[in-house]
Amino acid sequence: MDHQSDPLRLGVITLFPEMFTALTQWGVTGRAFQDGRCELGLFNPRHHATDRHGTVDDRPYGGGPGMVMKPGLLQAALTEAKATVGEAALVIAMTPQGKVFSDAKARELAKAPGLILVAGRYEGIDERFIDASVDEELSVGDYVVSGGELPAMVVLDAVIRQLPGVLGHASSAVEDSFADGLLDCPHYTRPEVYEGRSVPAVLLSGDHGAIARWRRAQSLRRTIDRRPDLFEGRSLAPEDRQLLREWHLLHSGE
Ligand code: SAH
Repeated sequence: MDHQSDPLRLGVITLFPEMFTALTQWGVTGRAFQDGRCELGLFNPRHHATDRHGTVDDRPYGGGPGMVMKPGLLQAALTEAKATVGEAALVIAMTPQGKVFSDAKARELAKAPGLILVAGRYEGIDERFIDASVDEELSVGDYVVSGGELPAMVVLDAVIRQLPGVLGHASSAVEDSFADGLLDCPHYTRPEVYEGRSVPAVLLSGDHGAIARWRRAQSLRRTIDRRPDLFEGRSLAPEDRQLLREWHLLHSGE
């Protein structure tokens, strides 16, 4: 049993708190909450609305389509969130205009003294709330979705996987794609022959050294073929070159 550290405190400011059961009740992340590795508070700006209809948005200054989330209600929800999650928590707004989220960022955030994510809706949130109260803006990619809830769950899932003890097998986060700057190797399970396709023989050999070398070579080859950008600024180490040659995965001219 690994040493159990304090749970990572997480909070999300959202108009749709019910969506977060997708994170808290299922699979690896569900177990992490159950085991007390992390805690999630959900804070709804609507609870701070003062009118009868619980209005949280208003028309944009300058005109144009859509509505904008009102800054005061977000601020009230943030004050409530900080009281629970902690004053030192990092405040991150989900927006397609933020820095694109990555494995490196997930590792960094897993060490934060608490995280509060802000999920936008409509055309987005009043810029003054971002200026005054948000530490960082994060995007999940160069496309637009309808709300910040799914992006927030993507970030939280990736962060929770990095917490000590969350992944059953101690090294499986280390072997995932991106962990060492490479894509993961291909995986196979039974049956040994499936629709005429065999599992690569080395995986059945029982030779752990050969298996490790084959996996590394596959990771390297896949990264070269699919994501050459991950190699930017570095070149193949001589050992890696040798590995690729050993498995006939180095094409001439590389
Ligand atoms: N008008 C905005 C998009 C609004 S979409 C723009 O063009 O920048 C509504 C909300 O969905 C946003 O406030 C944000 O919280 C969330 N969202 C949409 N796409 C996202 C992405 N790629 N990454 C993170 N959050 C996103």
